[in-house]
Amino acid sequence: MSSSGDHPVRLERLVKIYTQGVRQIHALHQVDLTVKSGEFVAIMGASGSGKSTLLHAIAGLTDVNEGKVIVAGQDLAAFSDAALTRFRRRQVGMVFQAFNLIPSLTAEENIQLPAMELPDVKQRAEAILTRMGLLDRRHHRPDALSGGEQQRVAIGRALMMEPAILLADEPTGSLDSRTGQELCQVLRDLVTREGRTTVMVTHEPRVAMWADRVVVFKDGRCLSEFPVTPGAGAEAVALAYEHALQSAA
Ligand code: ADP
Ligand code: MG
Repeated sequence: MSSSGDHPVRLERLVKIYTQGVRQIHALHQVDLTVKSGEFVAIMGASGSGKSTLLHAIAGLTDVNEGKVIVAGQDLAAFSDAALTRFRRRQVGMVFQAFNLIPSLTAEENIQLPAMELPDVKQRAEAILTRMGLLDRRHHRPDALSGGEQQRVAIGRALMMEPAILLADEPTGSLDSRTGQELCQVLRDLVTREGRTTVMVTHEPRVAMWADRVVVFKDGRCLSEFPVTPGAGAEAVALAYEHALQSAA
């Protein structure tokens, strides 16, 4: 097995600086992060700590100033724009807080979208609709679906190309707490049952507690990390997170 299979994501000394006029915003400071195959990692941090920037860097959606982004064994800097777009479509599935579905398309059509050119697009989408418990919702447009259903459609769309990595940015941020927990269970099952490598951003302990490992972000730095004991609960994660923030202060 290749090393890329063992490490779907490797970030080395990653630096990202946004320039706004004369102002420079250091969004990522020398970030190192390795994600193992089949691992579920939660990135926790306050608003503005660089979590979304980190996911965008992994997805190749933002140029970085220094350091390396290696996804599925490929150094993203080596790609042309067109090759990067193809690579991203194939290897990176993304899920957002606001679902980002196409309003005029049905659940089934939204899920099919990334794979329209594949001969088995219909069968793939059907299998995913079944896995996501959405078969009876397939002909509904997003405005006729609940928030939880819309996010399951978004996850289904992200899985259509069987990507090496699933990236989720505050995936429960628009859901009520019960639906959020159900969505966490869906993500957890994808990792446990299918070995789907997942990096999820959240600021909520009761969401992060579903992951295998929590990486704590502050001011664009990877402060520390801790493993999550299965079943430890939100309180334990909240305490470990606060401890990480205080140790660094
Ligand atoms: P988080 O997702 O943890 O809330 P972000 O990655 O969105 O954090 O932002 C990190 C920092 O970078 C913040 O200070 C934010 O204001 C800044 N930032 C994010 N995106 C941009 C952008 N496109 N242009 C300028 N600054 C940005
Ligand atoms: Mg964000």
